[in-house]
Amino acid sequence: MLTGIHLLLTYACNFECDHCFLYCGPQAEGTFTLGQVKAVLDDAERIASVETIYFEGGEPFLYYPLMVEGIRMARERGFQAGIVTNCYWATTEEDAKLWLEPLASLGIADLSISDDEFHHGAEVDNPAKRAARAAKRLGIPTEAICIDQPTVEVGIDKEQERGRPVIGGGAMFRGRAADKLVEGLPTRPWRELTECPYEDLRDPGRVHLDAYGHVFLCQGLSMGNMWRSPLPELLEEYDAESHPICGPLLEGGPALLTDRYGVEPEEGYVDECHLCYSTRLALLDRFPQYLAPRQVYGLE
Ligand code: SF4
Ligand code: SF4
Repeated sequence: MLTGIHLLLTYACNFECDHCFLYCGPQAEGTFTLGQVKAVLDDAERIASVETIYFEGGEPFLYYPLMVEGIRMARERGFQAGIVTNCYWATTEEDAKLWLEPLASLGIADLSISDDEFHHGAEVDNPAKRAARAAKRLGIPTEAICIDQPTVEVGIDKEQERGRPVIGGGAMFRGRAADKLVEGLPTRPWRELTECPYEDLRDPGRVHLDAYGHVFLCQGLSMGNMWRSPLPELLEEYDAESHPICGPLLEGGPALLTDRYGVEPEEGYVDECHLCYSTRLALLDRFPQYLAPRQVYGLE
């Protein structure tokens, strides 16, 4: 049941992190207009199960007035609102308060803060910490998101992982991460990667939307385009089994997707997402309606 709608307010970001699964950066295009945000919120009102609207990116604070107005409109319609940010704007705790006060007045339910070395290096009192302190003073609930460089450990927890190398650190090997972070990591035979471990492709609890209209089940994997078919109808008509990418993923994971469309795989991949992303990249021209936009795959 869909409870959360996440707006990728912009693909633009002042950072260009190696682990970014959307290939965001200073040159990235694709930003919602005010009219588009309003259209999404109007559609969201027609979906009874939706409770929360998130504003993320890219870096949503780069379009601060648009983000604030979007949150105001979401709150006016009775939704909870959340933000995901890298906190570049928290120059000092006092300055951070200036940015956060209008959001506190709107009663935002969550400020998710990227606080790790990918974003802020080894700096101890970094912008994320300053933003968290300012948010606490204003009574805004916060959550830290921490992604580390991939580590290799020997699996000891689950039966199937015992003795097998397990990749730690929390990075998802999609987008830029699949291109930048996989070198030197242990791989598994591609035929073993037989399920999607992270997304509920059949009945998603949340979807991400971008300014081009894509409704994402996973980064770069679209259910359809909400500018062509309104979001409530699109969700109503979505049938995972007949979706050309989700169908095979549900039946036999990235391995079956690769097999089904005759994509030539490497011998091994770091994990399911690494194979899934690589296969989808090879299928972009065949399924442009569902595998988009190209910029999320690092292409023009
Ligand atoms: S991971 Fe976040 S901060 Fe880094 S480039 Fe992507 S959107 Fe920007
Ligand atoms: S296996 Fe594919 S669809 Fe599933 S989470 Fe990984 S990249 Fe996304």
